[in-house]
Amino acid sequence: MFRLKYSLLLIAISLCFLNVEAQRRAKAKKSGFPAVTVEAQGPKLVVGIVVDQMRYDYLTRFWNHYGEGGFKRLVNEGFNCKNHHFNYAPTSTGPGHASVYTGTTPATHGIIGNNWYDKRADEEVYCSSDNSQQSVGTTSDAGKMSPHRMITTTITDQLRLHTQMRGKTIAIALKDRGAVLPGGHMANAAYWFEGGDTGNWITSSYYMEELPNWVNDFNASGVAKSYKKPWDTLKDIGLYVESGPDNVPYESTFEDEVAPIFPHSTPNLLNKNKDFEILKYTPYGNSITLDFALAAIDGESLGKDDIPDFLTISFSSTDYVGHKFGVNSKEIQDTYLRLDEDIARLLVQLDEKVGVDAYTIFLTADHGAVHVPAFLKDQKIPAGYTNNSTNKERFIQFLKYRFGTTDLVKNMSNNQVFLDHKVVNNLDMDLVDVQEEIALELLRYGDVDKVFTAHQMWKNEYVEGIPYILQNGWHQKRSGDVLFVQKPGFAGYGRTGSTHGSPMIYDTHVPLLFFGNGIKKGQTAVRTEIPDIAPTLAVMLGTAFPNGTTGQPITAVLD
Ligand code: ZN
Ligand code: ZN
Ligand code: ZN
Repeated sequence: MFRLKYSLLLIAISLCFLNVEAQRRAKAKKSGFPAVTVEAQGPKLVVGIVVDQMRYDYLTRFWNHYGEGGFKRLVNEGFNCKNHHFNYAPTSTGPGHASVYTGTTPATHGIIGNNWYDKRADEEVYCSSDNSQQSVGTTSDAGKMSPHRMITTTITDQLRLHTQMRGKTIAIALKDRGAVLPGGHMANAAYWFEGGDTGNWITSSYYMEELPNWVNDFNASGVAKSYKKPWDTLKDIGLYVESGPDNVPYESTFEDEVAPIFPHSTPNLLNKNKDFEILKYTPYGNSITLDFALAAIDGESLGKDDIPDFLTISFSSTDYVGHKFGVNSKEIQDTYLRLDEDIARLLVQLDEKVGVDAYTIFLTADHGAVHVPAFLKDQKIPAGYTNNSTNKERFIQFLKYRFGTTDLVKNMSNNQVFLDHKVVNNLDMDLVDVQEEIALELLRYGDVDKVFTAHQMWKNEYVEGIPYILQNGWHQKRSGDVLFVQKPGFAGYGRTGSTHGSPMIYDTHVPLLFFGNGIKKGQTAVRTEIPDIAPTLAVMLGTAFPNGTTGQPITAVLD
């Protein structure tokens, strides 16, 4: 009896396999490709996930709270690069997203900050703004965006070229730059979230003239409205022993909120906090991003045929929450526990819609974050704040005293000083001397730890340490004349919340997880760098490398 049952079971299993095999062969025949296994064919869909402001230790610190289907599944069944870093500064969102997808650094792709001083236009510019475009889906200017300031191609561009534009790229994030830059120059679409009173997903005329039906349907569905609810902790807050107390002076409050504590009664605060805008500062901003990404998979039929598509998702709320409450807050812990649930939800959907092992995921961040300096200071760790107004006053006095004018400094941004070369010439001074004098003056300021000049960046090829990181972030045409770095643990920021942007390791160390089709199971503590991601994907997909690639494929992850 037992034997018979066993044989029947075996037959049933074989029939299942035969059925799957027959389906696959039929499909392969239809597509005109020879019948090969899915693995040899490569993924039908690549999903790139960037978690905004995710430190590597968020993976390990909250590990015991994560479920089996989210971060743990990516780590346990995929490949974990534990020593993964940004190799340039400034470590901010625009440069971060550009570097992940271009396989290079600001020195080459040209996105040298979220905002920077454009020498030629003599004005501050925003990394993804484009006034030659029109907004689509809103009457405001929030849609006037494009990747035109990014000089090199992305892995998403290369896939488009490689597939003769048959493979689709759809890019999604709350923040416009979190979608526009990953999408590259040839994306079918990039969508971002307009907070304010609409709560709609919008785009730019760079991609299309009007929103597709599935986006209009999503916007009309009331999903955004459904997240206008109080934010309480996912689990009993007493279990959150991996973060500090809920009410500390290192956190800021929502406008009109009495204390920075759970539950955050966001519906009551909506009007005071620009309505839907407040969702960005809660984990619900990530949830609605995922809802929209899942709608995109259906609406655009992503991963439905054998030509690989690319979906880029950036979870931006983690950054807003980090800036508001800080690295050590209960709010950050809860945001990551909820993101873990959203990632599990994504994986279940991909298994179902695209197929188990038919897609590839990578997950990384656009930068890390510093512990709130005031908190570090209270724990006796050297830390503090840059006093911008004192420094500025002192610097102006120096310029007047030494050069007789402040005109020779055009702009100070992203820890760089931009000189007016014409004024330097008119003063009959040597540019290199002026750079050095200004660098030495800045080095006298209490919070400044290191200084470099453009001349040094020009003349040397640094291979390690802070100068290597600065050089990778320094673009010959676009960047400034003097570079300075704050002491470790110092930030030019308010007394509450965390920030980022420095070349220090807390801003550079982020997760890198690979998972799914074409990926080996494993882990490494060998150093890998952000520009390595795009060439790794290029090898896996068989495409050309993005045209400015400076990273190296991480061969250990490839199956
Ligand atoms: Zn960011
Ligand atoms: Zn709190
Ligand atoms: Zn940020």
